[in-house]
Amino acid sequence: MILAAGALVLVGLGLFLAGLSTGITALYWGCVVACVAAAAVLVAARRQISARAAASKAPAQVPVAAGNVAAAPAAEPVAAEPVPPLEVEDPPVEDVEVTDLLVIVDLKDEVLVVDEHPRYHVAGCPWVGPRPTIPLPLDEARTDGFTPCGACRPDRTIAGRARASRKG
Ligand SMILES: [Zn+2]
Repeated sequence: MILAAGALVLVGLGLFLAGLSTGITALYWGCVVACVAAAAVLVAARRQISARAAASKAPAQVPVAAGNVAAAPAAEPVAAEPVPPLEVEDPPVEDVEVTDLLVIVDLKDEVLVVDEHPRYHVAGCPWVGPRPTIPLPLDEARTDGFTPCGACRPDRTIAGRARASRKG
């Protein structure tokens, strides 16, 4: 901007000198126009500089604001804390085939029960997850009134295991 103003002044000066040497009035007017334009450019440039100064003052406050914002997220981990809830509902009762039932009815294979829940499970049941389990012999679990879990299907699992071991 300032360079442009300088160039306009030079143009005005050139026009003035040309006017002097030639005596053409129009060149004097050209000089005046160039000088007025140069003044306008300088005013505009000064406004731009002061605007820039104001803008550079403002960012000085930003780090303070950023500091306040940075302090706020400390509260976030509290919101992120909730553990994925365990399924509260008991799984459906396993639909046991009679052939499996006949195989497992007297077995004492270990099954897992969860306190205050009516199903028995095999290890790795997705419904049991991290719940604390109590191991019980299968026949005892059945006698105590526990029913097989429909998610991990302990009767089918144990019947399959028993058949495999019989073959072997
Ligand atoms: Zn289960």
